[in-house]
Amino acid sequence: MPNVPAYAAARAKASLKPFTIRRREPGAHDVMIQILYCGVCHSDIHQVRDEWGNAAFPMVPGHEIAGKVLKVGGRVKRFKTGDAVGVGCFVDSCRKCEACKVGEEQYCSEGPSFTYNSFEQDRKTPTFGGYSALITVDEHYVLRIPKSIPLEKAAPLLCAGITMYSPLRHFGVKSGDRVGVVGLGGLGHMAVKLAKTLGAEVTVLSHSPEKRKDALRLGAHAFINMRSAGVFEKHAGQLDFILDTASGQHSYDSTLGLLRRDATMVLVGLPDPTPFSASSLIMKRRRLAGSVIGGIRETQEMLDFCAKHKLAADIELIPIQAINEAYKRVIKGDVRYRFVIDIASLAG
Ligand code: NAP
Ligand code: ZN
Ligand code: ZN
Repeated sequence: MPNVPAYAAARAKASLKPFTIRRREPGAHDVMIQILYCGVCHSDIHQVRDEWGNAAFPMVPGHEIAGKVLKVGGRVKRFKTGDAVGVGCFVDSCRKCEACKVGEEQYCSEGPSFTYNSFEQDRKTPTFGGYSALITVDEHYVLRIPKSIPLEKAAPLLCAGITMYSPLRHFGVKSGDRVGVVGLGGLGHMAVKLAKTLGAEVTVLSHSPEKRKDALRLGAHAFINMRSAGVFEKHAGQLDFILDTASGQHSYDSTLGLLRRDATMVLVGLPDPTPFSASSLIMKRRRLAGSVIGGIRETQEMLDFCAKHKLAADIELIPIQAINEAYKRVIKGDVRYRFVIDIASLAG
């Protein structure tokens, strides 16, 4: 079992510091991956700060992993040494429940093994994420990264990309639909690109007016500054679908009011509990839904879709030594639009 350099938080809210973990040698079905890039998701920050109340330490975050296959086990069929691959938010699941059987492993009734701050399916071995040099994963949970997408720009697709693609597909967003995206961050900027590519007319709802130009450049048709007086009344009932990616508390009643009759708003952001009024739904038979990441098959479909349409994340590449500063900047909304760690810097 090789010793592997990583970065970890020793306790809730602690700075991330150099740390050593161990990874297993590949078993028959495993792929050992040299991690080259890892995206920085806001979920990493929520968990390092123990904002979801289930954090275990030491924690090595990171679930937007892109790299190259280093070694494969004897029975691995789909990958060989040197292949460009990715790992997203989970590394295993029960494989037997109804959700796993239909390829929705993220909803595994036994609980998937999340890439970090979780346990392998033995429920004993802690998982460590992508802020590290190597990872060993069963081939079923490894994604193929199409050659045309640069690996550093592909990394954020493994969480931000699939988290947006899955609800857009599940709720049947189609050409001509008017789609609202709340929050222009890592998830939000991918939502704009993906929804636009599906033919939707995209409106960005942001509390950062300085992002207007970027929103339009990314493909949005309109930009609404949520802080401007009267905007929610002005645009009431205009949207067919909303993806709410905001990481902080905000009014669901205001954004629900933008939906037409029978339309759906999907929450993917996980801020503190946010109350809302039942009348926001009842009066127009609106729906409020949630969605978490996506299954392996759909994640591969999303990567292939991105390759076909020349989509990838807008990133700022950083050395691992800048991670604590990067967290502060994400919290301030000061990232355009995803930090990606250059894992080669771990050796420096
Ligand atoms: P991010 O890059 O920090 O973007 C979040 C955006 O939310 C910010 O850029 C900001 O956009 C907006 N925002 C922040 N605070 C706000 C507030 N108080 N009110 C309104 N808007 C606010 O974060 P991310 O990585 O995209 O993740 C977004 C959320 O989704 C996080 O809570 C994360 O944990 C969650 N997440 C969920 C899943 C899932 O599967 N469901 C997957 C990944 C992440 P503006 O400046 O444009 O307002
Ligand atoms: Zn994530
Ligand atoms: Zn399962």
